[in-house]
Amino acid sequence: MPSDNFTSNIIAGKHVPAQSGKTLSITNPATGESLGTFAASSAVDVNAAVKAARSALEGKWARTAPGQRTRILFKAAQLIGERAKDLAVAETKNNGKVLGYVLGEINQAIEDFEFFAGAATKANGIVPPLHGAFFGYTVKEPVGVVAAITPWNYPLMLESWKLAPALAAGCAVVLKPSELTPMTANMLVDILQEAGIPEGVVNVVHGFGSEAGSALVEHPDVNKISFTGGTATGRAIMKAAAATMKRVTLELGGKSPAIVCEDAILNDAVLGSVFSIFYGVGQSCEARSRIYVHESLYDTFVEKFVEAAQKLKIGDPFDKATHLGPLISPERIALMESFVESAKQDGGKVLCGGARLTEDDLSKGNFFAPTVIVDLPESNRCVQEEIFGPIVVISKWKTDAEAIALANGVIYGLAATLWTQNMTRAQSFIRAIKSGIVTVNTPATALPGLPFGGFKQSGLGREMAMETMNAYLETKTVLMNALNKPVNPFGI
Ligand code: NAD
Repeated sequence: MPSDNFTSNIIAGKHVPAQSGKTLSITNPATGESLGTFAASSAVDVNAAVKAARSALEGKWARTAPGQRTRILFKAAQLIGERAKDLAVAETKNNGKVLGYVLGEINQAIEDFEFFAGAATKANGIVPPLHGAFFGYTVKEPVGVVAAITPWNYPLMLESWKLAPALAAGCAVVLKPSELTPMTANMLVDILQEAGIPEGVVNVVHGFGSEAGSALVEHPDVNKISFTGGTATGRAIMKAAAATMKRVTLELGGKSPAIVCEDAILNDAVLGSVFSIFYGVGQSCEARSRIYVHESLYDTFVEKFVEAAQKLKIGDPFDKATHLGPLISPERIALMESFVESAKQDGGKVLCGGARLTEDDLSKGNFFAPTVIVDLPESNRCVQEEIFGPIVVISKWKTDAEAIALANGVIYGLAATLWTQNMTRAQSFIRAIKSGIVTVNTPATALPGLPFGGFKQSGLGREMAMETMNAYLETKTVLMNALNKPVNPFGI
């Protein structure tokens, strides 16, 4: 069972329970076993955390030199590396993702801290050429107190995507991790403090979105919200933020397409596409959950895809042979079943999967088989809505224009993948696809240094890159009189 340090809030550097004494329970999604209880915070806890962040921001932290922040963030990266195994074990228990993949995500968190460690000293302003009567320049200042609100699908990695740039910019943070996956948040923040982040600069409030999350979003002393989660929650947050004009970064849902051209390397396209939908059991915002295959390749592609999907080993996420763990909660199983049912009602054919897995120990967890659906009208909810599970729809196209229209035919625009050997033709697809990220011949979408974020209703703003720094900074323009003459603009 986790210790109190593990399960409490962190406010002003101290581990404290929710003031109401309320807790929330978490469960291992692979086994159904209880993982203990965490603080279930309410507005009073959020107030205390925001107050601690404000006073830390205006205290020592405000006077920390950028180079000092660089050293702290590099140290944090090093400590995360040293504790990677412990962090990964806790994360796998809590969100069910396969241990080896979680270690990869922790590695990305380390790279993110390293990237923003370097960025801390490069938040430069400008000195533009002006009329000779003036001297003007800009300075970048921390935006202030940041509320970082994160989901359950990549807990530690996405917390790092927000904490690293916020700290590099000199902000103070209140982090609210997902109520489903709070287990690694305190471990991460303890590491940051050990690395030299002063007490109160990063605070953690655990709890439900409807209570702790909304109290943070509505708090008048929060200057910026950096949110990753569902599109519906993102809309509500944007509305609430308007009341005090909080800055917002929103990384939201997706329904991303893969386009397979007739000149694609078939094996790469099949295996890359299997990975890009089924990684994390499809519980990824960038999951390529719609695959559009040129009609000349369609039958062979579908046959090979189903064959590959059926080779995936599903089960214990601590077993090295496992490819896919469980879904995060039992409710997701019922949701998957409802998507499959709606596909069937619309004439869709389920070529594999389509149901919960219950053999042996799988019955204890939330396991669902990788599911391939074909012959579905584009209007079906399996094509239009984010499923966030192991369900993919494969369809065919004839002309490039048709493929582009299909790819763009949803409200989302996060990550699209193109499989072709013709890089000239790839350019015309890249220009036409309305998506924050377009990848060519690779399922990968997120590497520190490259902006990550969506067009359309997939979000607002970009993470992981130099431009991310601006989301945590305000620009202050300074304009000075450069003439040594009396000031009398009205000439009176
Ligand atoms: P969610 O929106 O239910 O919850 C995300 C976080 O917001 C949680 O911490 C939750 O407690 C909090 N929250 C919920 N309601 C709130 C409210 N009214 N006010 C403030 N906070 C609130 O999302 P989820 O189910 O945890 O995560 C899945 C979603 O996240 C998917 O839609 C997925 O696409 C998206 N996601 C996007 C990205 C990206 O970078 N674009 C990355 C990962 C996940």
